[in-house]
Amino acid sequence: MRICYLHGVRLTKFTDLALRAVMRLAVSEQDGPLTTRQVAEAVDVPYAHMAKAVSRLQHLGVVEARRGRGGGLGLTVLGRRASIGWLVRELEGEGEVVACEGDTPCPLRGDCRLRRALRDAQEAFYASLDRLTVADLVSSPNGPVLIGLSVRPPD
Ligand code: SF4
Repeated sequence: MRICYLHGVRLTKFTDLALRAVMRLAVSEQDGPLTTRQVAEAVDVPYAHMAKAVSRLQHLGVVEARRGRGGGLGLTVLGRRASIGWLVRELEGEGEVVACEGDTPCPLRGDCRLRRALRDAQEAFYASLDRLTVADLVSSPNGPVLIGLSVRPPD
């Protein structure tokens, strides 16, 4: 029996921490811009991991770094309006739920009904997230909790 290698429907850790950063930055307009280190500490993620996530979010045009006095990280207009489905697709990449074509390709991969069903399930998973925006994720009760996460002043 072939063991299917699952990923995608279960989000990668990278995607999860990037979404945590997006949610924390979405409420930072209420309590001031944050540095990458402050975001990392607020959502309990190692700084190096958060720096990579913030870099990816900047590359996607979701987060921008504002310079000068009172500067810091903030969401762009795209970041505030984007659907979570789009964002998760971008962060997760194009991978299928099952590694049919891996190092030892599955002999059934040419026309496998399970593969098609899993592709449909994966698309339904993303489609359910398409209905959400960042604003939805930070509405109560998440928003007040996010603002309450302790943030130390910058060094
Ligand atoms: S082709 Fe079908 S059985 Fe083979 S790995 Fe993919 S989903 Fe599983």
